[in-house]
Amino acid sequence: MRKIKKIAVMTSGGDSPGMNAAIRSVVRACAYYRTECVGIYRGYQGMIEGDMIPLTARSVNNIVHKGGTILKSARSKDFRTKEGRKKAYENLKENNIDALVVIGGDGSFTGGVVFNKEYNFPIIGIPGTIDNDIFGTTHTLGYDTALNTAVDAIDKIRDTASSHNRLFFVEVMGRDAGFIALNAGVGAGAEEILIPEEDLGLDRLLESLKKSRRAGKSSSIVVVSEGDKTGRNVFELADYVEENLEDYEVRVSVLGHMQRGGTPSCFDRVLASRMGVKAVELLIDGKTNLMVGLQNNEIQTIDLEKAIKGQNDINRELLRVSDIMTT
Ligand code: ATP
Repeated sequence: MRKIKKIAVMTSGGDSPGMNAAIRSVVRACAYYRTECVGIYRGYQGMIEGDMIPLTARSVNNIVHKGGTILKSARSKDFRTKEGRKKAYENLKENNIDALVVIGGDGSFTGGVVFNKEYNFPIIGIPGTIDNDIFGTTHTLGYDTALNTAVDAIDKIRDTASSHNRLFFVEVMGRDAGFIALNAGVGAGAEEILIPEEDLGLDRLLESLKKSRRAGKSSSIVVVSEGDKTGRNVFELADYVEENLEDYEVRVSVLGHMQRGGTPSCFDRVLASRMGVKAVELLIDGKTNLMVGLQNNEIQTIDLEKAIKGQNDINRELLRVSDIMTT
């Protein structure tokens, strides 16, 4: 087993709140175990360009509460090529780096697995994405913060919706996964929630809106995931409802990138701290190709390839609760 003397950490793919807390944790755990640490800027692209900085315990002061990532994030086309990865490997060797912690989503993990196969380079993944769409963890870094941001925004929209008796369609992030929509929708008391995993049907949407009006509700909120299964975007859905239901004043609000930003919640900071420590300990113990995840509130590991291939199912119990709440 080769001794791990120097660990690199980077953030890759879409950024998410809590990434800084995870960087801090990796750096401090390295310092604790007397292992050198290097930060790679802009994910795999920075690795190819040799864009790195030595990090000590003091380099990560005052970042635990900050959104975004001090190491920047990027998507790298070059890393998808053999030549790009060769350059990246040469840079790691030149800088005496023995192992890598990748904080990112399944694309970033796929790149890591490919790289490990080619160069037998030790890699541990930390799931950092607001979408919560990574198998092997109940929570990805940033998901909890994004939920709170979405709920807060929907609460504000409801104030204006109820003042004007309006129907609001609110689009939240989640192209392939409805976790944000379902949880934020239940949390904010949405009348309907449209997600990629379930086709609830447009008829049912109309019925449910009529029902809510009959029941005397003065405003309605429909939370829609970006990749909703009806195949219509949020504007088309709003048009459809306006065409089919009389007397409805419909408005659309797309929350967009605000969901990626902001101060990480306490939950995300604690999760990031736990995951960072575990990632460093795994590498020092000679482990590779694993992702750290949260299961039953314990930090666990799962094969990176399993994490990439597996799929988190939507919580059926929560769908049922959501149905009952709209009564
Ligand atoms: P998010 O979930 O926020 O989109 P992600 O980590 O899935 O984050 P991607 O853009 O899919 O984001 O991947 C990040 C980077 O990982 C890519 O820009 C690319 O450099 C690398 N990568 C992804 N797939 C591969 C692959 N098959 N081979 C080599 N590198 C890859």
